[in-house]
Amino acid sequence: MHCLNRRQFGSGLLATAAGASLLPEAATARRRYTGPNVIIVRFGGGVRRRETIDPDHTYAPYLRHVLAKRGTLYTDMRISAQDGVVTSHAQGTLYILTGRYDRYQDVENKFLSERFEPKAPTLFEYLRKAYNVPSHQTLIVNGEDRESEDFLTFSNNHSYGVNYRSSVLSLHWFKTYLLRAQLNEQDLSDKARQEVQAQLEKLEARNYRGDEVAQQVDELESFWSRWRRHYGDSGFVNARGDRLLTQLTVRALHELRPKLVMVNYQDPDYVHWGNMSHYTRAISIIDEGVRQLVDTVEADPHYRGNTVFVIVPDCGRDNNPLMQVSCQHHFNSKSAHEIWALVMGPGIARGRVVDKPVNQISIAATIGQFMGFRAKFAEGGVLNDVFG
Ligand SMILES: [Zn+2]
Repeated sequence: MHCLNRRQFGSGLLATAAGASLLPEAATARRRYTGPNVIIVRFGGGVRRRETIDPDHTYAPYLRHVLAKRGTLYTDMRISAQDGVVTSHAQGTLYILTGRYDRYQDVENKFLSERFEPKAPTLFEYLRKAYNVPSHQTLIVNGEDRESEDFLTFSNNHSYGVNYRSSVLSLHWFKTYLLRAQLNEQDLSDKARQEVQAQLEKLEARNYRGDEVAQQVDELESFWSRWRRHYGDSGFVNARGDRLLTQLTVRALHELRPKLVMVNYQDPDYVHWGNMSHYTRAISIIDEGVRQLVDTVEADPHYRGNTVFVIVPDCGRDNNPLMQVSCQHHFNSKSAHEIWALVMGPGIARGRVVDKPVNQISIAATIGQFMGFRAKFAEGGVLNDVFG
């Protein structure tokens, strides 16, 4: 029953979205956006302070020793310890994007499945409702291992929702594009066509939000067409893992000119398998990715001097001396609640270290303040110490 209602609701939203896109742009009467661009870096997959912002033990030397001097570092950001708050990846991502510690459950209550639907608007929706910013300029850049996070792009809030959604760049969306493009090719045999069709249906079935059409805007189709020309169809030429996220983001900054991007790094999480070096190496790879993103912004007059970085983990990790790898998991322990944030850009205090406790859900209100909208459902206050 729950499932049926959800599907009906989803198709209703889709119909609204298709109808809305037929309206002339002026009918929406939204303002032109002239504020700063914001790049949210989810330093994700769950990381501890020790291997990231502890100056003596960091595997992210660029972040800790270079970038921190140019921005405001919150060394005691926390995820609330109240009941029902979960220290994990999709949850942390939604705490950041909505500014609320809402409880989440799978859309069909499937055990260990994380197909979530936020009830409160995401930052993308606030921005696009307040300003005339097209969906391809509000982006989530996502990895291939946590595919449900491809769909955290809009809420069920009735006055926001799918009309104000973000777009997603990920290998899964590229594969969807590729299969659709292959179906349009003349020289495909009947057998090959059936196979491509079956693969496409399988990929589309993972979309529990029912919004494939909304993702197929011209700008994204062109983006993937250029990506395909450059990297081919195999998926083996482009980078993989978190390096791919950097590659996608750099390209998107050049080609799509986004105003608000969230890059969902995740690979430190491979330490779940029990190998500490996977974790520390992945942190270094994100650090290198952050350096590339900052370099890209500074080399581009469109972004230079007009772009704020907000770097924050989705969650911390355990510090469990009974385990051979003490930070193997993030089971709601004290240390799994302990994160940090670094904010850097025009108007942000430089070299400031704030050690008072602050909350992860304050990120949303703070980004609203940068971008000129009020995240009115967000519960965290603005991080005022960042203002220089
Ligand atoms: Zn994990």
